[in-house]
Amino acid sequence: MASAKDGAARVTNEWKVRNIEDMKIPATIRQLHRDATRMRKAAHAPYSKFKVGSALLAPRGRVFGGCNVENASYGGTVCAERVAILKAVSEGVTRFTDIVVVTVAKTPAAPCALCLQTMAEFFDPETRIWLASPTKIVSVHRFVELLPKPFGPKQLAEAE
Ligand SMILES: [Zn+2]
Repeated sequence: MASAKDGAARVTNEWKVRNIEDMKIPATIRQLHRDATRMRKAAHAPYSKFKVGSALLAPRGRVFGGCNVENASYGGTVCAERVAILKAVSEGVTRFTDIVVVTVAKTPAAPCALCLQTMAEFFDPETRIWLASPTKIVSVHRFVELLPKPFGPKQLAEAE
């Protein structure tokens, strides 16, 4: 995975830098982007027409892909990010370093609040979330940046 000298680590340390145009994107992330773009093609999105692909990277290089799977009873819809996380967890993988999310929104979309809450269960504050179109990664964010105050086991433990 990423060494301290490559682009991903540099982005992590300078997370306020949003434009990654000039930054070197590690080969592992470029491949993850291709995986997420491919996964997007499997999206079942007949209602919103908003197809999303994701690819989740675990330590030691394991990749779990996801796409959004909509349902006629809209509440049954599952986002691409959660599909990837649930696939990984169901196979015993619960630690992650990176996720790429691919949409065709003019500004590539960030994960919804429900996905962020699911991420809070498994992601480290430093887990990187790369937002992309099918052709280009446009930004990278630390998880803690997108959800700075997650609800978690700490709150449950503090209940009086
Ligand atoms: Zn979502």
